[in-house]
Amino acid sequence: MTALSGLSIFACDPGATRGRCHPEHPAPTRTEYQRDRDRIVHSTAFRRLVYKTQVFLNHEGDLFRTRLTHSLEVAQLGRSIARSLQINEDLVEAISLAHDLGHTPFGHAGQDALNGCMADFGGFEHNLQSLRVVDKLEERYPLYDGLNLTFETREGILKHCSRAHAKQLEDVEPNGVGARFLRNERPSLEAQLCNLADEIAYNAHDIDDGVRSGLITLSQLEDVPLFDAYRLSAQAEHPALAEPSRHRRLLYEAIRRMLSAQVYDVIDTTKAALRLHAPAHPDEVRQLPVMVSFSSDMRERSTALKQFLFRHLYRHPRVMETTGHAQHIVRELFDAYMTKPQDMKAAFAAQALEGDAHGRARAVADFIAGMTDRFAVREHERLTGRRLLQE
Ligand code: MG
Repeated sequence: MTALSGLSIFACDPGATRGRCHPEHPAPTRTEYQRDRDRIVHSTAFRRLVYKTQVFLNHEGDLFRTRLTHSLEVAQLGRSIARSLQINEDLVEAISLAHDLGHTPFGHAGQDALNGCMADFGGFEHNLQSLRVVDKLEERYPLYDGLNLTFETREGILKHCSRAHAKQLEDVEPNGVGARFLRNERPSLEAQLCNLADEIAYNAHDIDDGVRSGLITLSQLEDVPLFDAYRLSAQAEHPALAEPSRHRRLLYEAIRRMLSAQVYDVIDTTKAALRLHAPAHPDEVRQLPVMVSFSSDMRERSTALKQFLFRHLYRHPRVMETTGHAQHIVRELFDAYMTKPQDMKAAFAAQALEGDAHGRARAVADFIAGMTDRFAVREHERLTGRRLLQE
């Protein structure tokens, strides 16, 4: 199979896809990965991302990132890097737009709470849930559940997975998307890129949202070498940006420079790795080390930024306070539906009543995971009579 025009020999080729669970005729005008992307954009789960928390809860401000804007930023960064590396931009876009579909309401707080509730029932992992959304929970086709995406898009969506869950996936789908976790293989370059684009996107936008919220300040960021180098260079070139009234422009300029530097670093480092390992086919990528990566220097600086955000933003007392309420809501919803599944939407209630305790818990987790922040708040109030968070 020859590579698509303009793409490298190690790029995923939609003409050579491992295919879909339910075979379909090719589309007249679109490649298989373009079809995947279109299905994701039209899905219900995708539209819900607009009302799901990234870091700040939805009601805290109109300008903070949501899971939807985050996913769009990941797709933008991923596509522009993919173009330079001559790998498949459409596949990168499809994976990026779908990568957070399985996230619960209230961000990581919601996911931790739901995982706790599911401890005796196989746990809850958001990556696995994203796959579950596109494989099972979307109801859009007459003859089967899910979006019937290609193997390559599904593989990219399943970014991480425990060994136990990989074994379960392998039982249902031999040599499927769980296999690489059991064989210790890497995913496609396109999937590798989405992981890194995710990190680049949230590091940058969480600085922006963090400063906008007032929870972190520009002077605190002087302790973060990756950011501060670009703040200094921006200020040296544009001294007027030192004026407090221009600090927002300074912040944007520093973030812009930081983003560009990270993108170019990934492109250079990955091109060097590709030259060194010289894969001759997309499948050879699987046996090789991860090739889409930062240089070791950028890795170190990016990790330091992550640690800063963790300490000063994600663990900020004001964030932690809403986190506590959010976890409470998820736990009480879980208990309420486990006791009375009829309180859920009919399809989930039917699923819950049909199965054993494990089946019931999974139906409850699916229902809660699909909720937007505000639906969860309202639903909790409806069932308990108490409102723990504003909308
Ligand atoms: Mg993400």
